[in-house]
Amino acid sequence: MQRPKVSKNKSILQKHLVLGVDLGGSKISTAVVNRQGEMLSRDHSLTPAARGPEAVIKAMVESMSTALSRASLTTAQLEAISIGAPGLSNPETGVVFTSPHLPGWQDVPLKQIIEDKMGVRTLLINDANAAALGEMYFGAAKGARNFICITFGTGIGGGIVIDGNIYAGSLGTAGEIGHMTIDTNGPRCDCGNTGCWETLASGTALAREARQRIAAGAETSILAQAAGDIDKVTAEVVHAAARQGDALAKELIAQISYYVGVGLANLINIFNPELVVIGGGLSSIGDMLLEPAYRLAGERAYRAPFNCVRFARAQLGGNSGVIGAAVYAFREIEKTKRNRK
Ligand SMILES: [Zn+2]
Repeated sequence: MQRPKVSKNKSILQKHLVLGVDLGGSKISTAVVNRQGEMLSRDHSLTPAARGPEAVIKAMVESMSTALSRASLTTAQLEAISIGAPGLSNPETGVVFTSPHLPGWQDVPLKQIIEDKMGVRTLLINDANAAALGEMYFGAAKGARNFICITFGTGIGGGIVIDGNIYAGSLGTAGEIGHMTIDTNGPRCDCGNTGCWETLASGTALAREARQRIAAGAETSILAQAAGDIDKVTAEVVHAAARQGDALAKELIAQISYYVGVGLANLINIFNPELVVIGGGLSSIGDMLLEPAYRLAGERAYRAPFNCVRFARAQLGGNSGVIGAAVYAFREIEKTKRNRK
């Protein structure tokens, strides 16, 4: 599939608008996005995840309406709504199979529900795949044809791009790199398995390790960074302590970095990507986390694919989900138009 020529006919294409939705386990973001990847309006709200799918969908619709009214638009002016959702989903049927961070979501026909409520063609894509598309068009992966976009946050999300297209697999659930087993005896994962990559190399993993060591009586300033409240120990708190030279914080980041490197080596050996784009909250730790991880990946992966891979930091930050979902919609619209010809 050819990439849409986004730069041509700018005045006409400006009218082509998609409402991008980034459905997260804790936050819903929506934005009206044009073909240049510019956001005309935005809205953020909290995800009432614990109250189940119905409440979450209601919150999504409210957030979409807010984003539309902020841009003084109606649904009639939208080409599509495009939702990036966490967990396993089928982009063809628009069904969310399951989502570890959204309790109660089991085979939810999200695309159809939103289409019925909003009266606009709706698309559904995995959130990490959306992020990869966003980076490919408007971020760190411009011009790349074979790359992997990894989001290190609460969990680990992955978007695998092969020859310019998301690799979706036979059902559409491919790219769940956060759930490749790294340590069969490792911690229990939300997916039900043990020792998944995201139980060892995510922000959640860093916070969990820190809490365990503090509870076991380790000498550290991490707890003080969290105002003495162990429940407030997060990856950011550990990073802050490490920056001030705390030995345990540095040790824990090195441990996470080791597992980041192990996973990277696996991906490089399997996919031989030209580029690995790294984003998500945990990656804001930066060189302290990433440099040793790249070095370890170099020690563990085959030399030839490692020597040709570039590493880059994601550029779209918190906007990658909404922009990437919109990119997905624009690509699908182009596809439909071409098939009609
Ligand atoms: Zn898992």
